[in-house]
Amino acid sequence: MSESVANTSETAARLAEIRARIDAAAKGQSRDSRAVTLIAVSKTFEADAIRPAIEAGQRHFGENRVQEAKAKWPELKAAEPGIILHLIGPLQSNKAKEAVALFDAIHSIDREKIARAIAAEMKAQGRHLQLFVQVNTGEEPQKAGVMPREAVAFVKMCREQLGLEIAGLMCIPPVDEEPAVHFAFLAKLAKEAGVLGLSMGMSDDFETAVEFGATHVRVGSAIFGGRA
Ligand SMILES: *Cc1c(COP(=O)(O)O)cnc(C)c1O
Repeated sequence: MSESVANTSETAARLAEIRARIDAAAKGQSRDSRAVTLIAVSKTFEADAIRPAIEAGQRHFGENRVQEAKAKWPELKAAEPGIILHLIGPLQSNKAKEAVALFDAIHSIDREKIARAIAAEMKAQGRHLQLFVQVNTGEEPQKAGVMPREAVAFVKMCREQLGLEIAGLMCIPPVDEEPAVHFAFLAKLAKEAGVLGLSMGMSDDFETAVEFGATHVRVGSAIFGGRA
């Protein structure tokens, strides 16, 4: 677990600063910044580091592992029922049941097996999660996500064969490339696929993502500090 730099006023100040930067980036494009959801990515941080963000009014949080989230979020969610929890990391189908029970949104749908497992679990548990299809815009072999050329057909399959409502697309650009190119590409694919959501942008590039239409930015270290 990472060392917490957080106390309530420090965390509140960081959140306010990021929110202000999102607002400015949105305004520059004549976008309504209320259309941009800030997801505070709390992976590796313990509940004590997360509580100040909740106290500062932050409600959307992101985690990348089901097991880690299960260890800290049920208690935090019980204390603040307005929390909306996003799974932003890869999901194995044998964790679908736990993921559907705990999370409110999943950003990493990238194969039929997972999509099927999520669909079955949502039905079984009577829960409706917001779902994003992850696209490997850089076609990196080590990275999760459907290939860009398959993205539109994959969204269609999710809708038509599995009855899933897909809220949008998600990407993580390659570290050594200009993120703007990937954000523009993801926006184009989303348009083709007929989805409105764009989950893109992290601590180093969330303003650029907002300029290219992000509806969800996933910001970790700029809020909680560096991870171990
Ligand atoms: C960790 C992570 C983030 C946040 O990264 P920062 O650079 O700390 O803002 C965003 N998205 C995903 C998928 C992540 O795993």
